[in-house]
Amino acid sequence: MSFARNKLYIGTNFKMYKNITETEQYLQALAIKTTDLAREEVCVFAIPSYTALHAASLVVDPEQILLGAQNVFWEDAGPFTGEVSPLMLKEIGVKIVELGHSERRQYFGENDFRINKKVLSCLAHGFIVLLCVGETEEDKQLKITAERLGLQLKIALNGVQDKRLSQLWIAYEPVWAIGEQGTPASPEYANTIHKILRNTLVTMFPERGAGIPILYGGSVNKENAVELIKQPEIDGLFIGRAAWDASRFNEIIRAVLPIWRSKTSKLLSV
Ligand code: PEP
Repeated sequence: MSFARNKLYIGTNFKMYKNITETEQYLQALAIKTTDLAREEVCVFAIPSYTALHAASLVVDPEQILLGAQNVFWEDAGPFTGEVSPLMLKEIGVKIVELGHSERRQYFGENDFRINKKVLSCLAHGFIVLLCVGETEEDKQLKITAERLGLQLKIALNGVQDKRLSQLWIAYEPVWAIGEQGTPASPEYANTIHKILRNTLVTMFPERGAGIPILYGGSVNKENAVELIKQPEIDGLFIGRAAWDASRFNEIIRAVLPIWRSKTSKLLSV
């Protein structure tokens, strides 16, 4: 499996909202609605809760919708009550592992060093890692956004080999932009921060850092999605609430895809 900045990445994390039946129904509806989309140019993904993952894997064609897990432990097996191993995710056909979501950092003590162990384990097991980074409101007020994001990337990606970079996606999710109380980042702000992230990735991985897709997440909706995807540094969207209805998610995909196409052709012709 190889990924780069040559397709639109668009997906959703269900957090702790959909049970098995709801997940199955959602994925079946989304598969039907998006069946005509060329997967060479758009990668659609969904990240259900653990209890629904196996059922989801039985109703989804991985050529159409990639499935992800919201977290994982770094060991293959052992006395780790309550944890789920990368091998268990592989067994049910999960392709993506989301790591470092701000809710895991905020409520479950996830930190960059633990995330680093998970990143290395997931990459070695062949998963796509969707690494979430983002500054808090306080970081932003203190004007340490670039430093915070630099630390998050440098610690979480410490020890990653160049040959694994085709398995890595980054989601920039400013903590102040996520959820009901969040305010979406302006497209210009998001683009500026994506550029900063890309520069850091290039510094860390001079050969291949420029090819790592960077998605934006945080209160994306049908209204702001188009302006966000117009930005040259934004390779995709990672959406919560606005994508939890398959029809609405499909509408967002349809709205941004032509914009992404024309942006990409312009960038290629430069
Ligand atoms: C998220 O939690 O990752 C997220 C992007 O949520 P929302 O779109 O609902 O702000």
